[in-house]
Amino acid sequence: MKKCVIIGSGLGGLSTGVILAREGFDVTILEQEAQPGGCLQCFQRRGVKFETGMHFIGSAQRGQTLNRLMRYLEIDDIALQALDTQAYDIVRLGNDEFRFPNGTEAFIEQMSRYFPHEREGIEAYINCVESVAQASSLHTLNLENADSAISTEYQLRSINEVIESHIQDHVLRDVLVGNLPLYAAQRDKTPFSTHAFIVDFYNQSSFRVTGGSDLIGLALQKRLEHHGGHLFTHQKAVKIHDDGQRVTGVTTADGNYYDADIVVSAIHPVPTLAMTDSPLIRPAFRRRMNHLPNTIGIFAVYLHFKEGRMPYLNSNYYGYRPGVSPWDSGEYTLADWPRGYLYMHLCHQAQPRYARAGVILSYMRFEEMAPWVGTEVGHRGADYEQFKRQRAERLIDAVGKAFPTLRDSIEHYYTSTPLTYLNYTGTPEGSAYGIARDISLGVSCHVPQRTKLPGLYLTGQNINSHGILGVLVGTVVTCSDLLGTEYLYQQIIKANL
Ligand SMILES: Cc1cc2nc3c(=O)[nH]c(=O)nc-3n(C[C@H](O)[C@H](O)[C@H](O)COP(=O)(O)OP(=O)(O)OC[C@H]3O[C@@H](n4cnc5c(N)ncnc54)[C@H](O)[C@@H]3O)c2cc1C
Repeated sequence: MKKCVIIGSGLGGLSTGVILAREGFDVTILEQEAQPGGCLQCFQRRGVKFETGMHFIGSAQRGQTLNRLMRYLEIDDIALQALDTQAYDIVRLGNDEFRFPNGTEAFIEQMSRYFPHEREGIEAYINCVESVAQASSLHTLNLENADSAISTEYQLRSINEVIESHIQDHVLRDVLVGNLPLYAAQRDKTPFSTHAFIVDFYNQSSFRVTGGSDLIGLALQKRLEHHGGHLFTHQKAVKIHDDGQRVTGVTTADGNYYDADIVVSAIHPVPTLAMTDSPLIRPAFRRRMNHLPNTIGIFAVYLHFKEGRMPYLNSNYYGYRPGVSPWDSGEYTLADWPRGYLYMHLCHQAQPRYARAGVILSYMRFEEMAPWVGTEVGHRGADYEQFKRQRAERLIDAVGKAFPTLRDSIEHYYTSTPLTYLNYTGTPEGSAYGIARDISLGVSCHVPQRTKLPGLYLTGQNINSHGILGVLVGTVVTCSDLLGTEYLYQQIIKANL
C-alpha cells in the first residue's frame, strides 16, 4: 500500500485523495486551515451562510461531463438547483440586458433575436465553441473522439481573435464575453479554448448547490474517509523531503512529519517548489514557474439580506459600466472602479422565493493591497477597514443601478480582498484562479502534473484550469499518471453504466 501525502484540501486535493484512496493508496491530506475545502469553503455570520469561491456549476445533468465525474467520485447525490434555463447568465452592458439560455439552439435563437444581422456568425461561433469542447478527451471523457489538431489550434488563438473572426457587431462581441470574470480573461492572451470549455460547460446546464458549495467538499471528505483516507486540518506543509532520489515525506509547521512514497501538491506550484531544495528540480523550471503570470484578484461583498425582502435571482448577473467593454474591466483606475461586477444569490434551500445571502464580485489588483501586505487577518488596521467599506459602498451603488431595492434589502454585509484569498488559500497575490494562460507564452505556461523529483506530483487549478471542471480534469490528468489513463477512463465509464 503506497503512502500518499496530499498538500491542500481544496477541490483538487480532495478529489485526488478520493480517487487514490479508492485505488488502494494510503492517503493523508494536510490542510493548513481550520476548515477544509479551499475555495469550496463557506462561512457563517449571524446564522447566514456565504460561499467564498465556487458559486455555480455546469454540465451536471445525467450523462453530462460533470455529472459523470461526480458519479465516479460518488458525490452525485448532492442537491442542485437549476438556474433559469432561459437566462442562466444575464449580461448588462450600459442599460441593455442580454439573457443566455441553456442549449445550443436556444442560444442561437436568443442571440439572433438580439442581433438578427449576425445569425450566421452566431451559428459559426457556437459551432466553434462546441467543436473545441468536443475535441478534448478530457472534457468529453471520451478517448476516441479526441482531435488534437483542433485542441492545439484553439489553445494558440486568442478569444478575441476567434470571436472577431465570426462576429462583426461590436456589441455582440462584448456580449459573448460578458461572463469573462469567470475566467479573468485578457485580450490577445487568453486562449479561445478556455472560453470554449466554460461556455460549453454552462450552456449545457447550470446549477447552484442547494445549501452551499461546501457540501461538495464535505461529500468528498466523507468519500475519502470511507475509502480509508485521512484529512488533518491545521497542518501547514512547510517542507517536502527527499533522499536524493525520490520524495520521502512532508513536514508541517508544527513539526509533524508524514512519511510518503508519493507527495501530491494541490496548491500553487510556486509555494510547492519553495518547499523542496532538491537539485533534481532544475533552476530553469523553478525560474519558469516563478515568472508565470497569475490571474487578477477579486474584491467580494457578501450580502446578508433582510428576511423576505430580496426576491431570489435565479441567474448570474454581470454588469458593466456604460461604455466599458468586459475586456477592460481589470484596467480600472481608482476613480472609475468598479468597471464591472458579477452579482449572485446563494441558494439556501430548494426553490427559494427570497434570497438570504448574495455576493458581489469585482476585480481588484494586488498592487492595491500594498499598504497591508504582511499584516495578519483581523489586525490589518482601521485604514484597511475603511478601504473595504468604501469599496463595498461603491460596489453596492453600482449593482443598485440595476437592482434599485438592493440597498434597502441589506441587513449586514461583509467583505474580502485579494489579501484574504492569499491568507486562506495561499495562492500568490491572492489571485482568483491561479496561473493565467497566455498564448504569447506558448508552452511555457504549461504546468506539468509530474515533477523531475520522482514521487512529487502537482494537481489543482494550476494543472489544467480552474473551476469545478477545470480542477477535476487536472485531477484526472494527475491520477492518470499514477494509475494509467486507459484504466482511469475505464473506471469512470464503469461508474456511469
Ligand atoms: C471568488 C471566486 C469565485 C469562483 N466561482 C466559481 C464558480 O462559480 N464555479 C466554479 O466552478 N469555480 C469557481 N471558482 C474557481 C474554483 O473555486 C477554484 O478553481 C477551485 O475551487 C480551486 O481548487 P484547488 O483545489 O485548486 O485550490 P484551492 O481551493 O485554493 O485549495 C487549496 C487548499 O490548499 C491549502 N493550502 C495552501 N497552502 C498549504 C500548505 N502549505 N499546507 C497545507 N495546505 C495548504 C489552502 O488552505 C486550500 O484549502 C471561483 C473562485 C473564486 C476565487
